[in-house]
Amino acid sequence: MSMYLEQIEKLVMLQKVDGEIIVLEEELGSMPRELAELEARNAEFLERKAVLEDKLDILKTQRKRLDQEIEDSTSRIKKSKNKLMMAGNTREYHAMMREMDNMEKSTRNREEEKVALAEELERQTALLDELQKEHAELTAQLEEYQTSLKKRSATARKRLDELQKEREGACVVVPAPVLKRYEFIRERISNPVIVPVTAGVCSGCFIQIPPQAFNDLQKGETILSCPNCQRLIYWCEHFQACDSPLAAAAAVRTATPLDDDEDEAGPDDAGYDEEPRYDDDNHSPDDDRDDDR
Ligand SMILES: [Zn+2]
Repeated sequence: MSMYLEQIEKLVMLQKVDGEIIVLEEELGSMPRELAELEARNAEFLERKAVLEDKLDILKTQRKRLDQEIEDSTSRIKKSKNKLMMAGNTREYHAMMREMDNMEKSTRNREEEKVALAEELERQTALLDELQKEHAELTAQLEEYQTSLKKRSATARKRLDELQKEREGACVVVPAPVLKRYEFIRERISNPVIVPVTAGVCSGCFIQIPPQAFNDLQKGETILSCPNCQRLIYWCEHFQACDSPLAAAAAVRTATPLDDDEDEAGPDDAGYDEEPRYDDDNHSPDDDRDDDR
């Protein structure tokens, strides 16, 4: 295999490794977010629990006060009944009777209040029980998540280390200027960085390569960039001829289409081989990814 093809192969390998690194780093990044969501729900539960417990405390204090008041007025009524016998005249007797009536009336009101209070206490206690059950479920879920998080992040980190080594291996073979170009593109354009050209079309931006550039590509001498999207390109048939795994990779590769603001009129010959233009560096391959967990 020529030096050129070997370098392309290593670049594609690098690309594959980098692709996996991106996925793993995203996964690692999403873990703390998921944990934070569960912790926020937990905090919300604790807050609701505290509110309910406060309510229950107030209700219990009210009940205690009512009990005391009922007890006091009951004993006052009893005393008044005893004093009734000692009333000096009818006027005094009627006055004492009226006072007793009033006391009995307010005791009845307090008894009614106590019944309503008991009902409210029962209702709030039931709410608290329900909340505690839900909270126990969430706590279990949180604990389980924390355990699995440790495992998942350890696995991801281990794989990242392996990939980093693979990456270093690939970097040794690729000449420094080409590697620099790869890194330059990687920092500015969404994955992938190196793509096959199939039937004259760049599979990064799906735009036809200019004939002269396509001829140069087919010669397989220097590593070229797509004049439109600036990704590194290689001719797929260079690899279909041999037994390279790249042939299969080239056939199934799915590239990220570029944003609408990309020049769709086609590549500009004059721009070829000049410093790459990067005016669309903000799109991410995962913009449309669902994250509804
Ligand atoms: Zn392109």
